[in-house]
Amino acid sequence: MGLTIGVDVGGTKVLGGVVTDSGEVLKTARKDTPREGGKALTQTIADVAKELMQEYTVDSVGVCAAGFVSSDRKTMLATPNIADWNGVNLDYELTSLIGVPVVIENDANAAAWGEVKFGAARGKENVLMITVGTGIGGGIIANGRLHRGAFGIAAEVGHMRVVPDGIKCGCGAYGCFEQYGSGNALVRFAREYAQADSAAGAHLLSLGDGTIQGITGGAITSAAAAGDSLSLKAFSTLGNWLGAGIASLSVVLDPECVVIGGGVIDAGDILLSPIRDGLEKYMPFAGLHPYPQVIPALLGNDAGLVGAADLARV
Ligand SMILES: [Zn+2]
Repeated sequence: MGLTIGVDVGGTKVLGGVVTDSGEVLKTARKDTPREGGKALTQTIADVAKELMQEYTVDSVGVCAAGFVSSDRKTMLATPNIADWNGVNLDYELTSLIGVPVVIENDANAAAWGEVKFGAARGKENVLMITVGTGIGGGIIANGRLHRGAFGIAAEVGHMRVVPDGIKCGCGAYGCFEQYGSGNALVRFAREYAQADSAAGAHLLSLGDGTIQGITGGAITSAAAAGDSLSLKAFSTLGNWLGAGIASLSVVLDPECVVIGGGVIDAGDILLSPIRDGLEKYMPFAGLHPYPQVIPALLGNDAGLVGAADLARV
């Protein structure tokens, strides 16, 4: 049984781990993500991998990051949120630094693969994973295989248009799903509600610095858990949008389950219940077919590195 390393490149940290073929993480290492991106980031990934390789012999390294990855899993085609990394052949650059084969993968794809192999959707063949963070990440497993697409942008479900001429998105388009179904959208909803009704927003405002801008996602989650009605309404709106988007995606993909991951999943049923309600409400051909189960992710922050480590085996 060979070991592999998975490395998850995030906005603030590069997290690596030695992973067994049953998905167990034996040891982790982390370093801050260098802001300048480019070669400094490539070197940081190599440093994290080499630190782990001092203790363990590994067959290969899988690296996942937010970006569009070439279908041969060698080149980072474009990274909108990482500086100076577009078109970098990471397979070549990293392999020459660490001496073992490297594959790269989109981070949301890697997380979806981790959840299907070892987490919430273990053993399932047709799965949609939606990662709800500052934006929305997507991963698709179709007939047991990760669906990569032709040009690296498969499963970028956060950028399907759900509102004609809606809010402008960071991708350049208008009305994208992630403008309505993300953690950032949750905060926007709560701020709008508190602005419109300061009495209803009093509790939430008291958790921050008292200003509308001081309302944070973490405060909304804890206020909702304590029964604050304005925060629950913000989650209900978020879940409704997510359920509507998942209903549309379900008629394309027909998944047996939809795994919801990302930071907001800490809210549990406060988020999952309105998603399930929204899914039922907006599902085309309602009543004529089974609905996918909506379930929470299991692997948390390790999903990306565990998935990347497993994808490096094949
Ligand atoms: Zn977009």
